[in-house]
Amino acid sequence: MKILVINAGSSSLKYQLMDPESGEVFAKGLCERIGLDGRLNHKVESKGIKLVRDIPMPTHGEAISAVLEILVDPENGVVKTVDEIDAVGHRVLHGGMKFSASCVIDEACKQAIRDCIPLGPLHNPANLMGIEACEKIMPGKPQVAVFDTAFHMTMPPKAYRYAIPDEYYDNDQLRRYGFHGTSHRYIALRVQELYGRKDLKVVNAHLGNGSSLCAIWNGECQDTSMGLGPLAGVPMGTRAGDVDMTVVQYICNKYNKSVDEVLNIMNKKSGVLALSGGVSSDFRDLESGAKDGNAKCALALEKFCYEVRKYIGAYAAALGGLDVLTFTAGVGENGSTNRAAICQGLEFLGVKIDPEKNAQARGKEMKISADDSKVDVWVIPTNEELMIARDTRDLAF
Ligand code: ADP
Repeated sequence: MKILVINAGSSSLKYQLMDPESGEVFAKGLCERIGLDGRLNHKVESKGIKLVRDIPMPTHGEAISAVLEILVDPENGVVKTVDEIDAVGHRVLHGGMKFSASCVIDEACKQAIRDCIPLGPLHNPANLMGIEACEKIMPGKPQVAVFDTAFHMTMPPKAYRYAIPDEYYDNDQLRRYGFHGTSHRYIALRVQELYGRKDLKVVNAHLGNGSSLCAIWNGECQDTSMGLGPLAGVPMGTRAGDVDMTVVQYICNKYNKSVDEVLNIMNKKSGVLALSGGVSSDFRDLESGAKDGNAKCALALEKFCYEVRKYIGAYAAALGGLDVLTFTAGVGENGSTNRAAICQGLEFLGVKIDPEKNAQARGKEMKISADDSKVDVWVIPTNEELMIARDTRDLAF
């Protein structure tokens, strides 16, 4: 079976054609600069193909057409015709309170995604464009939507409610939703597989360009660090994470900026990029900056690790203990120095990593805790595309 996984952003569209059973990726790539000019990056690892082509992409429709053309291209493609693609799975950012699981895309599902646009104003419209472009170009092909928020719908009210007047929840559904749900779900399932049981207290640290932590009990989300939108929680590449709202009010008033302008700063110009004095949002650059004696880069890393550590402690308290701590995504899978810094000081919780194992774990699944650690600590590479492909297989057939 071959499932096309689509992750459509406002000006970009990532794709992978994959086998949902084995996880084999036949081809993958990225359309960039949609709406500006258009560029396709396409990779077929088995054939050693890696190409970049400028193709006009005024809308997501042309981007999807370019993807399908390259997939059936006799030289650079991996299928003979589009008929060989069994179904399409779409990553959708916000499912609001309507979706606690993935769903087959029909008119009602599309309307529900549309209804969630006020909650995900940047991403949901792009996700819909990706869906509608596929419907147009591949009519009748089964399509499934997989929501970033769905895994978190098991949170209890004490975790998801904000302590603000009721009307904003009742009328506007303003609450904690959480994101990276497909990644957190992948890790929850993988931990279940590794231990052969569900009744474990797990904290998963998804640390990438965007980062979120998730408290998991019995395979289900109990709490997560992002909120109504993906700005909350720990500091990220360019996002501020948790900031006292008074800061927003202060900047608005003193510098005569609108709330939207300040939130743009909080989303795009903050996080470790800001703390490092503008050096970089990339953790590798910060590490080399800190090594070269740049105190701001060192502070950015220290602050990031400190806030992640605080969330781990908070979630251990929320769960009433901790059995397994997992690290995933770009920084979580590769950043051994950051993992060590995060875990330093968590010995009181029973977290003790083995420095050698930690240093070896780079992009591969591995237990990195010391043999006498009470809490098992793992590096588990996430695979959101595989989850999307599997949900698509399960729901479409
Ligand atoms: P996204 O949220 O965009 O999916 P990723 O999960 O791919 O992001 O993570 C990207 C981040 O991972 C970057 O900041 C990058 O610096 C970081 N990263 C990748 N490799 C390493 C490494 N060896 N050490 C530290 N950080 C790393």
